[in-house]
Amino acid sequence: MENTVRDTVILGTGCAGLTAAIYAGRANLKPLVIEGHEPGGQLSLTTLVENFPGFPEGIQGPELIENMRKQAQRFGAEFKPGHLVKADLSTRPFTLDFGGGKVEKTRSLIIASGASARWLGLPSEQALIGHGVSSCATCDGFFFKGKPITVIGGGDSAMEEALFLTRFATKVTVIHRRDHFRASKIMLDRARMHEKIEFLTDTIVEEVNDVAAKEVTSLKLRNSKTGKVWDLPTSAMFLGIGHIPNAKMFHGQLDMDSDGYLKTHDFVQTKVEGVFACGDVQDRRYRQAITASGSGCAAAIEVEKFLEEHGR
Ligand code: NAP
Repeated sequence: MENTVRDTVILGTGCAGLTAAIYAGRANLKPLVIEGHEPGGQLSLTTLVENFPGFPEGIQGPELIENMRKQAQRFGAEFKPGHLVKADLSTRPFTLDFGGGKVEKTRSLIIASGASARWLGLPSEQALIGHGVSSCATCDGFFFKGKPITVIGGGDSAMEEALFLTRFATKVTVIHRRDHFRASKIMLDRARMHEKIEFLTDTIVEEVNDVAAKEVTSLKLRNSKTGKVWDLPTSAMFLGIGHIPNAKMFHGQLDMDSDGYLKTHDFVQTKVEGVFACGDVQDRRYRQAITASGSGCAAAIEVEKFLEEHGR
């Protein structure tokens, strides 16, 4: 990476970052877009997106992302892989350190680093990631063809994963810690009506077996109301229990809420002038592709105004 000062750097290539890149590109800001560990963000791990306006029959998440990326490149956005290790937002231009001597200086910054899958946090779960424990049905579902699978969670992600996994599994058991679901009615009804899907509510995963065998064979479950404990045989456990914002690297420099979401005012403005946040890293309320895109657009427009006001 060079040490010229950029007008703007966009962290993240989900729909917030890519929409910001399209707008910043069209404003002739030649944005540098940093592609992190999960290129394309959550949409690139999903299947059919049915609620993004403009696609009456729906569109595959990865295709939607690829289209946005091409659109951003058409307007001059430059893409580079990188993982931000540390940022200095206390002096201008801002310094972004990507490790290994890779540093970028920029007059403005758009943080669109999204959110990553949440895990239960059990040691046995962590030990079996990649051996039957996964947070991505579209990536790993195929490996469990003809086998029983479990999905954890009670939101739209869990329903979506469960429905997707019916393509491969003999049976999908959705395990939810309560008996009330966050999932939208349409998604919940679809899952409930599917012949391969069963629900276990008020049920908590206590252990993933079998770490010694390096594969998932069963889950130790507990009913939170009756206290009953039992083993459910399964070949895989897919997590659909929400996400954690990717904002740790700004700890101490930007304000965050108790769950680590970046705090913004006036939609996308952080407490540091010239630093904007958009998409799932700052939105704990809507978390939709279209709202992420909307805030990405706003962030790019604010960057343009900021640079203009500061003599660029
Ligand atoms: P979510 O709505 O926050 O749901 C997370 C679920 O995981 C909740 O049921 C929660 O249980 C459970 N959970 C959280 N931590 C847990 C833990 N430690 N142990 C066990 N269970 C745990 O997250 P999401 O499903 O990822 O959805 C996020 C947003 O994306 C929502 O706005 C959703 O509508 C949207 N989305 C939309 C679609 C679609 O329209 N196709 C698809 C996916 C996501 P509690 O209910 O008990 O808290």
